[in-house]
Amino acid sequence: YEAKTQHHSVEEYKASDNKYSVVRLSLMTELRNAIENQQLNLFYQPKIDIKTGRISSVECLVRWQHPEHGFIFPDDFIPLAEQTGNIRYLTKWAIETALIQQQRLLNLGFNLKMAVNISTVDLIDLNLPPYVAQLLAKYDIKPQMLTLEVTESSIMSDPENAITALSMLKNMGINLSIDDFGTGYSSMEQLKRTPVNELKIDKSFVLELANSPDDIIIVKSITNLAHNLGLSIVAEGVENILSLQKLAELEVETAQGYFISKPLPATDLEQWLTANKGIFEVELEHNDE
Ligand code: C2E
Ligand code: MG
Ligand code: MG
Ligand code: MG
Repeated sequence: YEAKTQHHSVEEYKASDNKYSVVRLSLMTELRNAIENQQLNLFYQPKIDIKTGRISSVECLVRWQHPEHGFIFPDDFIPLAEQTGNIRYLTKWAIETALIQQQRLLNLGFNLKMAVNISTVDLIDLNLPPYVAQLLAKYDIKPQMLTLEVTESSIMSDPENAITALSMLKNMGINLSIDDFGTGYSSMEQLKRTPVNELKIDKSFVLELANSPDDIIIVKSITNLAHNLGLSIVAEGVENILSLQKLAELEVETAQGYFISKPLPATDLEQWLTANKGIFEVELEHNDE
């Protein structure tokens, strides 16, 4: 176990894209301990209602502060956790941590929805819906105030089971969102049968929105489709005012991205909300065509 004695930075780790690397194998077995040893942390990124600027929701994004490898981003361990099935523990931890934080925010005067990411493996875990119901009761949170985000590609990897699990969660009153929409090849037929409340447009279509006629057409079509199906739209990856302006013109309801705020640790989020009174103030041009 040479790797144990060496110091691997996140960059080095990312570079070694060999699935048999010692680092990868040890991360797979360490994740469960990491939860118990409180090495995992949620960061929180605000989502705004574009019309009013009000923060309506926050997305919870996991980070791993590893004692040897340093700060590890989710793209570097979520896929491993999915392979080993350990993601089920991570998801349960994330939902409970999110609800505890939501209660704290409520006590500070901020009534925000919490959005937690779940994966394909969670959708076939029949314990998840009753577990979530129990947590909502324990922390006295209305199911409408919890959003679960599931990627389009994870739904498409097993549509039948996904639709069954999502129906159970939807019937409990939980908000459901299809994440990274536009990258997972769902058919119109599939979309019609999937019980969700919102589509979250992938950041690849949003980052350069104002300067890309193709992206504008894509976002416009997804938005029309969603609205015709009675779904609302969230755009992720809003990095500049031009994207936000365009999204406002296209009648997208909700925006999230670095232009508004990066994902923040809990205490920074609380300070940010308090300083901004829960509103993101920005002057958008009115365009009366
Ligand atoms: P996602 O759910 O699509 O989350 C959005 C990602 O985009 C986050 O990356 C966020 O930090 C990043 N982002 C937000 N605004 C901007 C922006 O303006 N520009 C750019 N370039 N990026 C932006 P992050 O935190 O590294 O998470 C990556 C993915 O890992 C997430 O994508 C999600 O699929 C997964 N993930 C994160 N936390 C969890 C978790 O607790 N459970 C599960 N199952 N998956 C998670
Ligand atoms: Mg997400
Ligand atoms: Mg996404
Ligand atoms: Mg993503």
